[in-house]
Amino acid sequence: THFGFSTVTTSQKRALVASVFTSVADSYDKMNDLMSFGWHRIWKDHFVSTLNPGFSPLSSTSPTSPQHILDIAGGTGDIAFRLLHHAHTVNSNPNVKVTISDINRAMLSVGKSRSAALPASQQAALSFVEANAEDLRKTRPLTPILSQTEQTFFDPATATSGLEDDSVDLYTVAFGIRNFSDIPAALAEAYRVLKPGGVFACLEFSKADKHPLFNSVYKEWSFRAIPLIGQLVAGDRDSYQYLVESIERFPRQEEFRDLIKGAGFRVSGDGGWEDLTGGVAAIHRGMKP
Ligand code: SAM
Repeated sequence: THFGFSTVTTSQKRALVASVFTSVADSYDKMNDLMSFGWHRIWKDHFVSTLNPGFSPLSSTSPTSPQHILDIAGGTGDIAFRLLHHAHTVNSNPNVKVTISDINRAMLSVGKSRSAALPASQQAALSFVEANAEDLRKTRPLTPILSQTEQTFFDPATATSGLEDDSVDLYTVAFGIRNFSDIPAALAEAYRVLKPGGVFACLEFSKADKHPLFNSVYKEWSFRAIPLIGQLVAGDRDSYQYLVESIERFPRQEEFRDLIKGAGFRVSGDGGWEDLTGGVAAIHRGMKP
């Protein structure tokens, strides 16, 4: 199967992304481990520890002002839970709250159930919000899914809330942005909601073509094995085929860095990104001046 990506329109991409993540929600966590040999956990741990949420440069005992972290496309919670653990436990800073947001209620609902295993203080600092990253003025708290036939994609016409300008200290997005239909719109929204001095941080698949041999093994794995594993384990070849193609189409490190700069962010002098596992994934960061 091939989705013939170059010809899909924005609304077709939206519908495709909606059905893909509704379909994979229940098997998502297990599939991540299988497809990446568990590497995604190492990348996510690294992403969160380099962001060091809740760190106070003044003193580990003096209280800091409250920090608001927004985890966009947060799905089943892998990043949000790590951010909370790092802030509350590693940095002993309970003054950090995390909003986990996604366009898909099926993914968020899995996250909500998983969060029941977190310490009560972390659960209290966590909120679940339905939103499209491309327009954060329209959001609503996660509403439970009542029937199997119910629409799980967030409909902005049902919004009851929104995110304010200059209200967020740290914006994270992991393995989400390549699914967005309008990446510049999402970057503009990230810029709007961040406080001056706030940080945009993105973990995403990227290009690993610096080492041709490694790259050819990686490409074989992606294009042959992943759709097959998707078929065998999740009973869903097409969704995993989509995932592989969306990685292929996502801009290279330099191009994506330039999009981030184009939205007004300052990026660090050494390129503005960090390659992980030879560029299979990369972390990009920008600061709102
Ligand atoms: N961040 C999580 C992680 O690292 O495990 C989940 C990543 S998952 C691969 C991608 C998520 O992006 C899905 O949950 C999907 O619903 C969400 N998504 C896709 N398009 C979106 C959009 N326009 N706005 C918000 N979330 C979106």
